[in-house]
Amino acid sequence: MLKKLVLFDIDGTLLKVGCINRQILIDALKEIFGTEGSAGSHDFSGKMDSAIIYDVLSGTDLERYQIAEKFDAVKQSYIRRFRAETRASDITLMAGVRELLETLAHRTDLLPGILTGNFEASGRHKLKLPGIDHYFSFGAFADDGFHRNELPTVAVERAFNLTGKKFSGNDIVIIGDTVHDITCAKSVNAHCIAVATGNFSFDELRKNHPGTLFENLSRTGNVIHSILNP
Ligand SMILES: [Mg+2]
Repeated sequence: MLKKLVLFDIDGTLLKVGCINRQILIDALKEIFGTEGSAGSHDFSGKMDSAIIYDVLSGTDLERYQIAEKFDAVKQSYIRRFRAETRASDITLMAGVRELLETLAHRTDLLPGILTGNFEASGRHKLKLPGIDHYFSFGAFADDGFHRNELPTVAVERAFNLTGKKFSGNDIVIIGDTVHDITCAKSVNAHCIAVATGNFSFDELRKNHPGTLFENLSRTGNVIHSILNP
């Protein structure tokens, strides 16, 4: 019987992408808007790709409505470039991820999904390159909103459509590498498992009181135990 919905962040949690990611966004912004804004130095950690496009252009002469008019064009340019230019060698899987996903795939009580600031098309490409896309039958992405805290409801709805089970509270587990993942989990009283494999240190994450905190996901048994015992 299904017990837990296990929602994984992508960047800094399942894998990391080399610096090609930032350059692709810069190229897409320049193509569509003629400027990259602050994309060269913006901190992307834990933020939604949809919001990042507005944030990095906010210091330019562009008005918000002008960004909105070309939002879809820049999104499509970014996705097209990302799929064309990113190679398997640009992606590094985090320690223990493949083993953890393989373990989850063999359990009938745990349902893995994605909860990420990536657009679905580029996020799925990131998962396909190292061969872990097939572990996730559904997810919530940057296409679904501008703030991460909007995503748990979307993921819960998609899990319901798939399984007929309505997950709530600490039957939802959010696994992520930033304070934004912790805040997101708290916004729906979900259990948060934070991992210090991204840009936030173990101590920074600890100060934000995740339910559980791991250096990485390499100890599969401990991660499964934490998922089942919030
Ligand atoms: Mg992340």
